[in-house]
Amino acid sequence: MWRFKLDALPVRWNISTRGIDIPSLLCPSCQLGVERLNHTFFECQVAVDIWHLVRVWLSCNMPIFRNWEEINSWIEGSLFSSNVLMRAKVIVVTVLWVMWRYRNGVAFDDIVIHKNYPKEYEKLVKKKLEVEMELERATEKVSSSKN
Ligand SMILES: [Zn+2]
Repeated sequence: MWRFKLDALPVRWNISTRGIDIPSLLCPSCQLGVERLNHTFFECQVAVDIWHLVRVWLSCNMPIFRNWEEINSWIEGSLFSSNVLMRAKVIVVTVLWVMWRYRNGVAFDDIVIHKNYPKEYEKLVKKKLEVEMELERATEKVSSSKN
């Protein structure tokens, strides 16, 4: 799961560099920037808002990420205990997953982004996080019962 490869995601810029003609390179969410990976997950106003929300929920001093490498070095370079580290990874991957899912909803299912999108994101992230945390707890139980 942690090996989630962002580079492979078919954002519009990546599609166009493979020589495929697409009608627009603009980000489906904001229609303001070319849809590259960093735009989708870090620079788009939608992404900026969601990372901000995550920082508020977690009330932790998570830095403002500008790219995938910065997330990696934050996680790898942290002095977190392994438990907290695991949680931080789950949260980051969940946030990215929700962003991508939401982006696909906008791009393919004509979901309209409206003023309430931070609330919708919050619901999605929290729901997904509950599932992930459940899984994690279940895994911990299995591995501790083995010991
Ligand atoms: Zn955008």
